[in-house]
Amino acid sequence: MENKNLGLNTICTHVGETPDNQFRGAVSPLYMSSSYEYMDVDVKRYPRYFNTPNQEYLSKKIAALEHAEAAMIFGSGMAAISTTLLAFLKAGDHIVVQNDIYGGTRNLLEEHFENYSIEYSFTEGLHVSDFEKMIQPNTKMIYIETPSNPLLKLVDIQAVADLAKSKNIVSAIDNTFASPVVQNPIDFGIDIVIHSATKYFGGHSDICAGAVASTQQNIDTIWNIAKNLGGSLSDFSVWMLERSLKTLGLRVKAQQRNAKKLAKYLSKHQYVKAVHYPGLKTHPSHDIAKKQMKGYGAMMSFEFIEEINTQEFLNATQLIKPSMSLAGVESTMLQPSETSHALLSPEDRVAQGISDNLIRFSVGIENKKDIIKDIEQAIAKISKKELAIH
Ligand SMILES: *Cc1c(COP(=O)(O)O)cnc(C)c1O
Repeated sequence: MENKNLGLNTICTHVGETPDNQFRGAVSPLYMSSSYEYMDVDVKRYPRYFNTPNQEYLSKKIAALEHAEAAMIFGSGMAAISTTLLAFLKAGDHIVVQNDIYGGTRNLLEEHFENYSIEYSFTEGLHVSDFEKMIQPNTKMIYIETPSNPLLKLVDIQAVADLAKSKNIVSAIDNTFASPVVQNPIDFGIDIVIHSATKYFGGHSDICAGAVASTQQNIDTIWNIAKNLGGSLSDFSVWMLERSLKTLGLRVKAQQRNAKKLAKYLSKHQYVKAVHYPGLKTHPSHDIAKKQMKGYGAMMSFEFIEEINTQEFLNATQLIKPSMSLAGVESTMLQPSETSHALLSPEDRVAQGISDNLIRFSVGIENKKDIIKDIEQAIAKISKKELAIH
């Protein structure tokens, strides 16, 4: 069967299974060898060549999920991102980058690119014209991340892909926050799709991995430097990742269903000032969301009114864990001003719209009523202490 004609959950379950011709087990065997015979073989296999049996086959599943020809699996999202950028940019080149991207990606540019004589410009806004403005004669890549962290701002993927194509520039997207269940950027003309597989791909907060999907030609270009940079993933984790991806469709759709209802609940809450979720009609880019997202994902952020102490709230939740990462089956929250954006000055945070009361919410698969109960009991607990509103 042609992979591209299969449904999402069939791709998740079956595409890219490592064959077990000897025992015909129901799941992929795990090949842990770091040493393979080299005589009379078609492929000389080695883990850092990204071509062990488990790496090779799982890449097919990731390619199918992103409607791509080929894919590669990495040891982390940042390994995937850094390897991809260095594959397409050399000294004297320039990259246009969305202003509010993942902190690690920003650090890579700001701390290291000068040493490689690679120029970069961050956009001012997120409209396609903001990207166009920054293009120079030596621009080789446009890099976006939508929805963005933590305010869930959106970039029009099709518009940016068209712009890049018209100027012969490679376009790349960090698709981590959406996942391929919600958004397939290649369908809109984006060249390269990158994931932190630590997030929705893994989905159980127990794997650190990354992935890139694109044309075979682009993957060959990335492979050329990847084998020298060495950011491969251990086969045990590759095997774990395959297990995780079998339920990607089921998990993300359940998380998304919860998120939609929780966004509505929070936006009606008397102590909540703002909810940032692309599925709400009040979201400034709701129209873009409708065009490019299948559902609206399971990430959101919201702000309490001033009288609620955010840290106390996060200490008072019982089910919802305050945690750094995201996208696991368990609901988690974090306060960007204390974590991901703690290194920014308070003024810069305000300029970016990140108040101390902002909470990023990664919605899990728990029963919605229990998540709401948890939020309510946490508010009740802290408001008894310090909210004299009622
Ligand atoms: C976590 C994350 C990354 C980095 O991935 P690691 O697996 O931690 O290296 C990149 N982009 C986004 C949007 C992320 O959330």
